[in-house]
Amino acid sequence: MSAAAEAYARLSAGDARRRIEFTLQKRRAVLKRLAAEIRAREAEIMAALAADLGKPAVEVRISEIIPILSEIRHSARHLKAWARVRRVRPTLSMIGTRATIRPEPKGTVLIIAPWNYPLCLALGPLVSAIAAGNAAVVKPSEMAPATSALIAKIVAACLPADLVAVVEGGIETSTDLLAQPFDHIFFTGSPAVGKVVMAAAAKTLASVTLELGGKSPVLLGPDADLKKAARMVAWGKFANAGQTCIAPDHVFVPRAQQDAFAKALRAEIARMYGANPQTSRSFARLIGAKHFERLRAMVSEAVGQGAQVIAGGDAEAASRYLAPTVLSNVPETASLMREEIFGPVLPVIAYDDLDTVLAGIEAGEKPLALYVFARDRALISRVCRATTSGAVGVNVTLAHFLHLNLPFGGVGNSGLGAAHGHWGFQAFSHEKPVLENRFAVLDPLMPPYGTLATRLARIVQALVG
Ligand code: NAD
Repeated sequence: MSAAAEAYARLSAGDARRRIEFTLQKRRAVLKRLAAEIRAREAEIMAALAADLGKPAVEVRISEIIPILSEIRHSARHLKAWARVRRVRPTLSMIGTRATIRPEPKGTVLIIAPWNYPLCLALGPLVSAIAAGNAAVVKPSEMAPATSALIAKIVAACLPADLVAVVEGGIETSTDLLAQPFDHIFFTGSPAVGKVVMAAAAKTLASVTLELGGKSPVLLGPDADLKKAARMVAWGKFANAGQTCIAPDHVFVPRAQQDAFAKALRAEIARMYGANPQTSRSFARLIGAKHFERLRAMVSEAVGQGAQVIAGGDAEAASRYLAPTVLSNVPETASLMREEIFGPVLPVIAYDDLDTVLAGIEAGEKPLALYVFARDRALISRVCRATTSGAVGVNVTLAHFLHLNLPFGGVGNSGLGAAHGHWGFQAFSHEKPVLENRFAVLDPLMPPYGTLATRLARIVQALVG
């Protein structure tokens, strides 16, 4: 039996028992143990992420540890309300019945994680899965091996073996896991693999949550505060060396402000990472050689097609360092404008007409995030109405990920379903309706259909419209 099949069989064997015995109190206790383990292993977490991504310690705290701990805290606090059996009012034809909605765990679920926030994107969904009362198999990314090993260690140390299993490995392991009849699959990764996951889920009709990627554009209005916009964009783009699913992918700036914005961006990069970002302790590294070469090739291709490097551009293969890089005049045909960049390279595109930009965004794949920088509320509202995206950030980048009262997810090519807080709980729950007959008068509607049934059916139809 493969590790995948063994983990599925071991966990799913407890589904029926868990449904009854895994009380809210027990779920909270399990989550608290996980939080304590994470706090106790802070140094190991920092070391693993430094090894995998050269991630600065503060970034590890902000983007890996804090999101998991706040998801745990938020879930523990709201679990009772989320799991409550809710009574709903009868509709007109249902008078005489009592109806409730009962959130129940889906059963045994699979969580497949990517490498860019390898701890947070594996354990964050796990918190929601446990809060909703499920058992879960977690498959961390093989591309971040130190973090993957640590996730296995953390789980083994603090969570029951019949509740959570970590199965480490690459595509083969993932394929093996996807062949098991899980009750839900929560996948975070690329749109291409998202399609593989959905096709696999179709075989067993497992429900899916797909947290995918894509190109998240930034749009500067003519009245944008350029300095503040440059600061937010530089932070959003160059944190984790641009390897963030909701990182600004490229920026549209009014032609008249192009030079001023470029200047402001250069100033912000220098302020954040110093004159030589390679020596900065605040700048991460790329995940691997393949990714490094891919980005370098994309920059060279754009330059070959007439783009200008207006900041950064230098690179060192041995340390997988690519400087925070800004380009102007990138042609639409360049791979930088066609593929998700997922690295510290930012094309700045001058525009003359806002509607043309909005139409261009709408014509492409639906982004995971769209950022608009402006003061004019009418313009902000126009952008929100004219475009579809997983989320919109107004005068801010990235931060919506941390807001647990907002659903986090994509739409179309950027994803399906949502995570975080109550939405995470719902992703792993089945909302089961229970209808109870108390004094509903249904007999006259049953065969044989006589005059009374005909009249009653007519009356009901007239009443409901
Ligand atoms: P990926 O799709 O290559 O891999 C994700 C996971 O799927 C890994 O665990 C990997 O082992 C597994 N996998 C890869 N190929 C597979 C296959 N053929 N069959 C089955 N499993 C397979 O993604 P990645 O490179 O790890 O992450 C980068 C992508 O993830 C980007 O597109 C990024 O935007 C996206 N992302 C999205 C979010 C979000 O929350 N929406 C968060 C982070 C990353």
